[in-house]
Amino acid sequence: MTIYLDHNATTPVDKRVADEIMHHFLEEYGNAGSRTHEHGQNAARVVNQARATIAATLDARDDEVIFTSGATEADNIALLGLGPEGQRTGRRHIVSTAIEHKAVLEPLQRLADSGFEVELIRLGVSGRVAAEDVLAAVRADTLLVSVMAANNETGVIQPLEQISEGLGGHDAYLHVDAAQTYGKKNEPLRDHRVDLISLSAHKVFGPKGVGALIARRRGYRRPPLTPLTVGGGQERGLRPGTLPVPLIAGFALAAELADKEHPERLAACQAYRDEVLAGLAPLSPLVHGDQDYCLPHVLNISLPGLDSEAVMVAWRGLIEVSNGSACTSASYEPSHVLAAMDVPEEQILGALRLSWSHLTPPADWADAVARVRALV
Ligand code: PLP
Repeated sequence: MTIYLDHNATTPVDKRVADEIMHHFLEEYGNAGSRTHEHGQNAARVVNQARATIAATLDARDDEVIFTSGATEADNIALLGLGPEGQRTGRRHIVSTAIEHKAVLEPLQRLADSGFEVELIRLGVSGRVAAEDVLAAVRADTLLVSVMAANNETGVIQPLEQISEGLGGHDAYLHVDAAQTYGKKNEPLRDHRVDLISLSAHKVFGPKGVGALIARRRGYRRPPLTPLTVGGGQERGLRPGTLPVPLIAGFALAAELADKEHPERLAACQAYRDEVLAGLAPLSPLVHGDQDYCLPHVLNISLPGLDSEAVMVAWRGLIEVSNGSACTSASYEPSHVLAAMDVPEEQILGALRLSWSHLTPPADWADAVARVRALV
């Protein structure tokens, strides 16, 4: 059996979640926008309940949850949606980091193309941005600070608490791409100074194709987001289109289960990490990123003298890993994340990302080591 070690790309859907989704596909299939009959009213109730469930996990209000197709869309609505406010007020300065996902970097590039000044803070081998560097870049005309909760390639957790605290009463909006930590490390996201949070269901045993943007109010004021698409007015006009009720119901159940089962999942992931490290130790892997701040289910390594492609071929049928984020692994670009961390080029070309879950069965590490040794 091949062991799937690419949970940062996506997770399987929890069976309980799949059952819930199927129920809403087959039995309660109403349109949440239909007010004239029971099927529609039931669907609206399911969406409201899901909104409340997700809001509760982040200490947000129900009306601060905007369902989207995933974290990519949430990032786009948050970042590009603030553009008109920046143009109107003349606050055209944005601070972010060089290790953000492309779902953040590309919208930021668009804003830069339309006259915004985007500063991407670099960082050292730790893979963790220094909160002081982020805060030192913030100016009176800074509209937005966008920092991911944890990096998808290295698993390194970013210092959100310090950034949030340092921003204090500054007007700048704080956006956090939490695709990799939602359901795994919710506490920093419950902080009310975090204005905008991007979430994805398929990284926490929910379905692909659904996520949310949390857009927190400051007092009565909502973040001044301009919608990117127009249509039926759903989600307070910020994300119009018929709501995918089955996916939303599944997302909410996945979020609830992640919250409830968090301690056991965490312990299982930590124990698995010890097995991975012990299993690979004979190959003396170089580990990327500060392990004191790494999510317990992620490990980014390179094996001295070996190219990642060769190792992945050698491990075929045994373990499945990735050599970068899923989105960039199709185009053989060296990782922009490891490059921003000043990891040497040959080490970047050898980088392998292993990511597991609380359910991952043990792998045959002795065979994995033997196959790599046969390469050299
Ligand atoms: N942001 C980060 C940090 C991610 O890891 C991912 C997924 O790889 C995304 C955004 C995109 O999420 P989605 O697939 O829900 O659009």
